[in-house]
Amino acid sequence: MRKKQFKAESKRLLEMMVNSIYSHKEIFLRELVSNASDAIDKIYYKALTDDSLTFNKDDYYIKIIPNKTKRTLTISDTGIGMTSEELETNLGVIAKSGSLSFKAENEMKQGQEIIGQFGVGFYSAFMVADEVTVCTKPIGSEVAHEWKSKGADGYTIKACEKEMVGTDITLKIKENTEEDNYDDYLDEFRLKAIVKKYSDFIRYPIKMDITER
Ligand code: ADP
Ligand code: MG
Repeated sequence: MRKKQFKAESKRLLEMMVNSIYSHKEIFLRELVSNASDAIDKIYYKALTDDSLTFNKDDYYIKIIPNKTKRTLTISDTGIGMTSEELETNLGVIAKSGSLSFKAENEMKQGQEIIGQFGVGFYSAFMVADEVTVCTKPIGSEVAHEWKSKGADGYTIKACEKEMVGTDITLKIKENTEEDNYDDYLDEFRLKAIVKKYSDFIRYPIKMDITER
């Protein structure tokens, strides 16, 4: 499997995320939840015009799955999913939607904490993860694909198994450092608080299994 390179602009943004000294790294969750919500919106709007499609509210949700043993955090949605081509265009090239303007990027380099005001998007996952895996099955398709990347050195795309239409984004959470306690992003109660803080307005249910103690 050949490793593909990010476009130059994306690579720069990615490097900034990986080496981020930004102190509000928790906003990565806001970005991933908002992408999941957008993906469900897309099915909702499709159902409005497509008679063969019905939108059953109960079938559409976002699920957050921390796994302390594997040190992974998965954000799963039952949204529209992506084809392999869409994986390539949507995740291989960033700033396409202008989520982070050139100006913002430059200001960020000067160390100003303005990142929080912008939609920094999918790549913000690399602030807290060494590796990101996206497993996705698009609506109307029987095949699923997996996009995987450890950061700025590129990404791979291959076929994978996925039963339901939608997208699972799995982050391999970084080890703790003196400055950052990444374990926070594997902790149900911390995660719950982050969701409440940044994603309270999301129109679809955000689920998480809570371990009984
Ligand atoms: P933006 O949300 O501003 O478009 P992002 O960097 O957050 O930028 O996401 C890039 C693109 O990747 C999105 O526009 C969307 O097409 C695609 N994408 C990201 N996450 C998902 C998801 N969970 N389901 C479907 N598509 C997604
Ligand atoms: Mg986004």
